[in-house]
Amino acid sequence: MISFQKASKLGIASEDLELNDKTQTQKKFLIRNDCSQETIEDIRRIYGNVVFSDPLNAEDFDKSIQKIYKNKSIIDDEHMISLGETISLDEATQSLLSKTSIENNNDDAPVIQMLNSIITQSLAKGASDIHFETNDESFDIKMRLDGNIINILSLRPEISSRIISRIKILGQINISERRLPQDGRVTFKLGKQIIDVRISTLPTGSGERVVMRMLGKQNQLIKLNKLQMPENIYNNFKSQVRKPHGLILVTGPTGSGKTTTLYSAIDSILNLGLNIMTIEDPIEISFPGISQTQVNSKLGLNFAEGLKAILRQDPDVIMVGEIRDPETASVALRASITGHLVLSTLHTNTAYGAISRLRDLGVDPYMISSSLNCVIAQRLLRKYCLNCRNESINLGGKSSDQLFKLDGCEQCDYSGLHGRIAIFDYLNINAHLKNKISDGDLLIKEDSINERSNLSNEAINLVEQKVIPKFEAVRMTLNDNE
Ligand SMILES: [Zn+2]
Repeated sequence: MISFQKASKLGIASEDLELNDKTQTQKKFLIRNDCSQETIEDIRRIYGNVVFSDPLNAEDFDKSIQKIYKNKSIIDDEHMISLGETISLDEATQSLLSKTSIENNNDDAPVIQMLNSIITQSLAKGASDIHFETNDESFDIKMRLDGNIINILSLRPEISSRIISRIKILGQINISERRLPQDGRVTFKLGKQIIDVRISTLPTGSGERVVMRMLGKQNQLIKLNKLQMPENIYNNFKSQVRKPHGLILVTGPTGSGKTTTLYSAIDSILNLGLNIMTIEDPIEISFPGISQTQVNSKLGLNFAEGLKAILRQDPDVIMVGEIRDPETASVALRASITGHLVLSTLHTNTAYGAISRLRDLGVDPYMISSSLNCVIAQRLLRKYCLNCRNESINLGGKSSDQLFKLDGCEQCDYSGLHGRIAIFDYLNINAHLKNKISDGDLLIKEDSINERSNLSNEAINLVEQKVIPKFEAVRMTLNDNE
């Protein structure tokens, strides 16, 4: 496939993007009037018997290729920005704030440098999101790192519109629209890493807010055996993922790593000759060889509609990003008892909570008991920074005071914490539980094997092993016995 960038540079584009489609014998190419003979010969050599359009002028050519590439899949180099070498954030800030740059409002170079530098540094640290918040007194730039928001920089509010306009250009978002929320996408290239970024804007009383969410980072995909699940959970889960039908749910609050677990599960069955299809919001990692669809609420493509469309495409395994409405719940459960393996997430704290949540979404108890294979509940807990852990522990890291603050060191941005570890709870829906569920007996919790709250137990173990501070264990498992 010819990328958008290449097409506009060389002045040549295929009218049908699927050049690999063997059913069509003759490819049609559009050419711009300055397209070189060499390029035309190359295309003939590669694609054989092809048809070329009459040479188009630049304006008509641009219009046509924009139409062709408009509906293309998201991860492509049509709109890739190379971050390359950037100057330090301090230098970029100074350059942007210098007198000349303020006076010369048309000079975009300092704004571009500044933004590149913010993005590069956030990526280097492993941030998942970058926030740009316009307030009355300041323009604040923050990043989310290991689940927590960290301030990067505060600037004068006058700067905000220039930086936000630049972000909008990157995301191909309407710059002049400041009253409505908008979203866009951009792909960055940093060394060998390709990072797909979702951009969303939201108007507020003091100006616009923008969030850039980093997707598709290669390091997000973790092999199933590297999730550090306890061995019994790992073995059980692994065999459930290979079953031909049924429902597998992963539960936890936002940011607990549910999607990562689902992706790892899918990765573990990629080469089994199955038709794997997903409906997601957003697509966080793109897998070669499986069909992933992005929810698009503007066009009415929600989880339920996407799922129904997928079911007409002869799938074996379906991943539904989240079950959060009665219709999706009903379609997903029906799919899972009619010969499909369905994987999804639910927004509940515990594994048991999944059953009552499905009941709340109007699913018949009998349907739950016949479809549900297993539920995983999980959390991500912040670990001590290895570099300053001893000091933190000496200073009282065992305290359960939630306001407790660690001193930290340079390596952990003075937070005392660095990186995260996942803890899991696992509910296998065995015959006994199935009976309980279909009887509508919601008091199953007491009957369970050792499941008082495996998450709490796991967290306490990690505190005792000095991997995480106690306040982190308390904070993340507080509502476990709901
Ligand atoms: Zn540290």
